[in-house]
Amino acid sequence: MNSLQAWRALPAAQQPEWPDQSAVEAAATELRTFPPLVFAGECDSLKARIADVAVGKAFFLQGGDCAETFNGVGADALRNKLRTILQMSVVLTYAGSVPVVKVGRIAGQYAKPRSKPTEVREGVELPAYRGDAVNGFAFTPEERVPDPARLVRMYHSSAATLNLARAFVIGGEADLRQVHAWNTDFVRDSPVGERYDRMARDIDRAIAFMHACGADPAEFHSVDFYASHEALLLDYEEAMTRIDSRTGLPYDTSGHFLWVGERTRQLDGAHLEFVRHVRNPIGVKLGPATTAQDALTLIEKLDPDREPGRLTFITRMGAKKIRDALPELVEKVTASGATVAWVCDPMHGNTFETPSGYKTRRFDDVLEEVEGFFEVHRSLGTVPGGLHVELTGDAVTECVGGGHELAEADLVHRYETVCDPRLNREQSLELAFLLAEMLHR
Ligand code: PEP
Ligand code: MN
Repeated sequence: MNSLQAWRALPAAQQPEWPDQSAVEAAATELRTFPPLVFAGECDSLKARIADVAVGKAFFLQGGDCAETFNGVGADALRNKLRTILQMSVVLTYAGSVPVVKVGRIAGQYAKPRSKPTEVREGVELPAYRGDAVNGFAFTPEERVPDPARLVRMYHSSAATLNLARAFVIGGEADLRQVHAWNTDFVRDSPVGERYDRMARDIDRAIAFMHACGADPAEFHSVDFYASHEALLLDYEEAMTRIDSRTGLPYDTSGHFLWVGERTRQLDGAHLEFVRHVRNPIGVKLGPATTAQDALTLIEKLDPDREPGRLTFITRMGAKKIRDALPELVEKVTASGATVAWVCDPMHGNTFETPSGYKTRRFDDVLEEVEGFFEVHRSLGTVPGGLHVELTGDAVTECVGGGHELAEADLVHRYETVCDPRLNREQSLELAFLLAEMLHR
């Protein structure tokens, strides 16, 4: 067994109960014959940019669905999502005066850890939905059976999505003036946007100034955009790992950036063992129960050589806990001499269920956690490196609050997520503008 398979000897949390192991092996064998979705050199470029994030020379913005779906590959939805991320990033670039490293929860986010293995509806108990890479969302016995053939579909959906995303960001969608024009539309047309008029005008002047100076670099017309997902299904991730011909080192070519979730980051578990051996930049989610010792052990395991940009800690403490839970982690990690990128996920610690049964989040809690994250880093003199958000570019009604004051009773109108509630386009842009105001203070 080589090191890429060493995880197989360890307990792997949150793996599907595949009915037929030989079908899993057949899927993995097929996946091994497919071309890589991303190149090792791209993963290295991203790592170099995350190294900048860790020291405050860049800002990390990671966003997208909680769970992508196979039939959500449509061009419109993807374009709206990318536009939203690019629009947020222009605002944040201006406010922070540093480049924004743009990473989608896109082109691979098809598998979900679940808090319960089964779901009960009206007395019927079926296996929980674990993402399109595993089983179907529809609540029927047939759909909920894990099907290894879905691992191959995961590859094809990732490829189609990534292909489209790459085309969008080089084909005009990412043109700075175009993206800024969308922000101007948002400010003008949305009652929520009015408040940001001043900042939009300031950005306008900055762009006009650069243009008048004759500056028109390639960066104004296209951007680097990276793909990321939770490295959850280890059979898939292992099958997508290739040896880089330049260096002879293994890279998981299913996405540029991979993270290990809060539910699968057991120190002696299979997930850490797998990602330890691939050279991609790696993230780990840290919830409120994380101890400083856990964080230090994670660093030892995943980044023993202290490679710049290798490790990102994505904290998801909850608005009420961030100010208490984060300082000790950041202090002890900093005192150890290690450098990691600290990124704030203000979504996963703030989920609750409404009496009518919708999983939702309050916009104000999201903002509160972001504020707490910045406050903690400011008071310690450390670097708040970025933001990790679940968002969509469409006008869904999944999170409550925001300028439109979406109420719990509104959730029913357009609740489309198959997993966690996402910020809609307006809520996402608002978050970017409010964060920009915070950075300016
Ligand atoms: C997620 O990012 O969708 C997720 C499940 O997060 P966490 O691991 O932080 O709970
Ligand atoms: Mn989620």
